[in-house]
Amino acid sequence: MKKTLLFVPVFLLYTFCIGQQLILATHGQSDYQIVLPSLPDVQEIQAAKVLQDYLQRISSANLPIVHDMETPQAKEILIGKVNRPELEEVSYEKLGRDGLYIFTQNDKLVITGGSKKGVLYGVYTFLEDYLGCKKYPSDVAFTPIRSTLTIGQIDDLQLPVFSFREVFYHDVYDPEYMDWHKLHSFGGRGNSPSEWGYWVHTFHQLLDPKEYGESNPEYFSYYDGERHPGLIPSWDGTSVQPESQLCLSNPEVLEIVCENLEKAIAKKPEALYWSVSQNDNVNYCQCEHCAALDEKYAAFAPEEKMYSTHGSEYPALGMGSMLHFVNQVADRFPEKIISTLAYQYTRVPPKGIEPRDNVNIMLCSIESTRNEPISTGDPSFSEDLEGWGNLTDNILVWDYTIQFSHLLAPFPNLLTLQPNVQFFRQNRVSALFEQGNIQQGGEFAGLRAYLLSKLIWNPDVDIDQEMQGFLEMYYGRAAKPIKDYIDLLHENNQGHTGRKLSIFGGPLRETDSYLTPGLIEQYNHLFDRAERLVKYDPEKLIRVKSARLPVTYAMLEIQKENEGPNWELAEEDRAMLPTGLSLQLYDFIYHCLRTNVTRLSEWHTPPKEYLEKYPLVSEEEKNE
Ligand SMILES: [Zn+2]
Repeated sequence: MKKTLLFVPVFLLYTFCIGQQLILATHGQSDYQIVLPSLPDVQEIQAAKVLQDYLQRISSANLPIVHDMETPQAKEILIGKVNRPELEEVSYEKLGRDGLYIFTQNDKLVITGGSKKGVLYGVYTFLEDYLGCKKYPSDVAFTPIRSTLTIGQIDDLQLPVFSFREVFYHDVYDPEYMDWHKLHSFGGRGNSPSEWGYWVHTFHQLLDPKEYGESNPEYFSYYDGERHPGLIPSWDGTSVQPESQLCLSNPEVLEIVCENLEKAIAKKPEALYWSVSQNDNVNYCQCEHCAALDEKYAAFAPEEKMYSTHGSEYPALGMGSMLHFVNQVADRFPEKIISTLAYQYTRVPPKGIEPRDNVNIMLCSIESTRNEPISTGDPSFSEDLEGWGNLTDNILVWDYTIQFSHLLAPFPNLLTLQPNVQFFRQNRVSALFEQGNIQQGGEFAGLRAYLLSKLIWNPDVDIDQEMQGFLEMYYGRAAKPIKDYIDLLHENNQGHTGRKLSIFGGPLRETDSYLTPGLIEQYNHLFDRAERLVKYDPEKLIRVKSARLPVTYAMLEIQKENEGPNWELAEEDRAMLPTGLSLQLYDFIYHCLRTNVTRLSEWHTPPKEYLEKYPLVSEEEKNE
């Protein structure tokens, strides 16, 4: 991204001045009009209306919207591809789909952009960067009030670093929030049209075990001496899933997959991206022919790259047969981009085979530590990313940013967000999916969604300043103790333990790092102070209490583990909790309910269920 601003030194401003500034409005009046093309597209109309709306909110002036066939006037705001000489030099080819260009020329302000949403992004960028408007969580838009609204000279061209930008967070999918922060959605959330026909884990859709499992077991993975065409219960027990993968060296498998893909494309012809990718398990085919392909294209000996997820360990050797297969599919659909996963057993880039130009590699950082940047904290992933970056620039990184097993636990990874996004950019990653919390609520959900939204457009944004701005606006006078809490939490994020901070970890593992009794006491002092500072501001008090939930949750979890075995059972499955603890639990649940927290884990446990089961230590937790 190139961002250039023409800064006018203050003394010059006073010397030569007024001509350098554009007075857009003063005392509720404006000499300006907003100019649209005579046949504007939807984005241009929306951009003009958003601008008109916010200018009125800021200055009380209502600027008229006119078409460009009207006689040009000296003072105009030109929106989109208007027929005016000021636009003649603009290169729309350079702006692509989402690029934006804001500039002034004499007394005119021009906001234009690429073919997709560039002009709308241009208006929101102008409102934020030049007029001081802010969009924090979707329900908080800050608009300054100005009796005189002036801007200096502007020359600001911004191009996206990542062509696809999704921040997977519940609050993000508000239509204005998405447009404001220039975000996409693979699933078409937030009125954003999706370019994805299939997203991920599609082998079972393209060749269904229910249809072929019995008749053609040879289409499925071979290992442990037999084919595995079956279905097994899904991890949450609510459905079934394939127990294995496809046999990718079988030519009939290729034909069936292509046939079914063609049918799917016919139903959604406008979608560009189609995922042809492994099911969500590591049971890949080790038949003679698949194994030969994997060996032929292996960049490492099997023992050099052993990975593990959820306790199972496997050699990451499966990409050879995968890419050999996916390239053949891509050759059949040259107008589409065929996306495939580099995930778990297929994460390591192969040798001697390259992805076709229309193949997208979706690389997943699920194993990485989160207490330090991936570039230093996970050499193995870094090596894989660099390897893929040498083979292609059509890479989507699927990155993980929260603790999925405990959505409300403190998770000190905020300082890694920026270096990680910068590292992805360095290695030719062209699309980014930042997976946060799709459930409502969660630790610092609004702050995290905001910081990721900023980074995904501009990896070099001043992230400290953005965080500070958010905290001051969102928590008001409580911003300082909350920032102190964030700093203290991150200063103790396991550096001395040498242990990785996992997205599947939890508070019980951290009682020797950032959740020691002494630190928890300090966190509570900070939140006591934060609550006192906003006690007469109910809206901000609720936000502070939400920020505090993770500390309380950690205390509840740790007490359950440490003291639970001593609690007296009043009934078969209900313990008599110490009174103080009961009240803490009730406070916690009440605040979760009043702020619509939907789950405490990615997969399960609504707040009421947590309350019901609190005294019991579940089997899952025992095994953690
Ligand atoms: Zn096979």
